[in-house]
Amino acid sequence: MNIVILGAGYAGLRTALNLDHQLREHGKDDAVTLIDQNSYHQLIQKIHVTATSGVHGSEAIYNLGQILSSRQINFVQGRVRTIAPLDREVLLEDGRSLPYDRLVIALGSETAYYNVPGAREHSLPLRTYTEATTLRDHLVAQFSAAAALSDPKQQRIMLTTAIVGGGCTGCELAGELAAWVSSLSKETGAPRSEVRIALLDRNKLLLKQFGPWATREAERVLDQHGVSVYLSTAIEAVEPHMLRVSGGRVLRAGTIVWVAGIRAPNIIADAGLPVNSAGRATVDHYLRVSGQDAIFALGDCAAIPAGADGSVLPSTASYAMRQGEYLAETIFAEIVGRMTRSYEPMKLGELVSLGPDNGVGNPLGMPIIGQPVLILKKGIEQYYRSSITAP
Ligand SMILES: Cc1cc2nc3c(=O)[nH]c(=O)nc-3n(C[C@H](O)[C@H](O)[C@H](O)COP(=O)(O)OP(=O)(O)OC[C@H]3O[C@@H](n4cnc5c(N)ncnc54)[C@H](O)[C@@H]3O)c2cc1C
Repeated sequence: MNIVILGAGYAGLRTALNLDHQLREHGKDDAVTLIDQNSYHQLIQKIHVTATSGVHGSEAIYNLGQILSSRQINFVQGRVRTIAPLDREVLLEDGRSLPYDRLVIALGSETAYYNVPGAREHSLPLRTYTEATTLRDHLVAQFSAAAALSDPKQQRIMLTTAIVGGGCTGCELAGELAAWVSSLSKETGAPRSEVRIALLDRNKLLLKQFGPWATREAERVLDQHGVSVYLSTAIEAVEPHMLRVSGGRVLRAGTIVWVAGIRAPNIIADAGLPVNSAGRATVDHYLRVSGQDAIFALGDCAAIPAGADGSVLPSTASYAMRQGEYLAETIFAEIVGRMTRSYEPMKLGELVSLGPDNGVGNPLGMPIIGQPVLILKKGIEQYYRSSITAP
């Protein structure tokens, strides 16, 4: 069988590694091909740190060639343009076509702008390693330019960072940025007293999936570090260095970061596959795309049922990775003609850092705050690193 996996993120890489392991252990020669636009796998937990304090590339990304060197996985670097389910092939932007017997779609997600005028054009996103380094370079440039000005009002605008989106990414970035600005001011000569960080969200709660206790804790910690939190604040338009918010107010900021939401890439809907309102492929309890025998989807780009109420699982690396483990087992079972079990999501909870010394989380449903969050996060990161580099 020829299995093609699109995307070498948390879901796709895990599927490929586990499937390869099982196939070789059982002496099978089915082909596994992994396709990604990048030559590296990015460690998402390091993205907001990369954007704010210059984590070295080697800490935030892994070369896929190295990870796969001891495997029999065929890695193809290229950007997927189209999926053609009727022809059972995938077309890349450079014109190559790859046929498949089984296709795994693990293409992750993209920033969602919800048609807010100017949002895409005048803000910086933060989902990838490249976006993180772009944001960091932009911040350094803003601070350096502000240092050369003499008007405090102009300096303040230039040194204001507005983060749109009070979910995990927005809170983690705000916390990390707040910890960085003092040394960045010193390095660039920008006046620390004019630095402002604003975190805005249209909802009444920060980190709304955790509930009010986490909002209170996150607000307390971020406020202590000088982050101004604006809740129930909808962004109506984004202009160069300016946000127009509900109630006719404006906020001027030299840096606007948009982390207000995600959606799946259009490739899935464009292939005629069934998707939900966020463009995520709808799948059954075996992660098979509805109505498709040969196509699976998982991770951020799949709408995986979370319960009887019609909700779907949240987009987290831990779910994506476990779905990859499950799918490798399922595809292997199909190859050897074994029965497959359905996917049962295990609710492990989430951990959110709020700067280098604090955080909130709900591992296994238990609310925790402070250092324990960071210790657990570090442990999980180390486990993950060793799981992808183990021979
Ligand atoms: C800043 C930030 C911090 C986060 N922190 C955490 C955290 O601490 N814990 C946690 O559990 N979750 C975290 N998340 C969420 C987590 O990153 C995602 O849920 C997870 O990465 C989803 O895995 P995935 O495999 O579905 O997608 P991804 O990991 O995004 O992988 C998708 C892959 O597809 C590739 N790709 C996309 N389009 C194409 C194309 N057209 N052609 C070829 N290749 C393509 C990409 O290059 C990428 O390698 C964070 C997210 C962000 C943005």
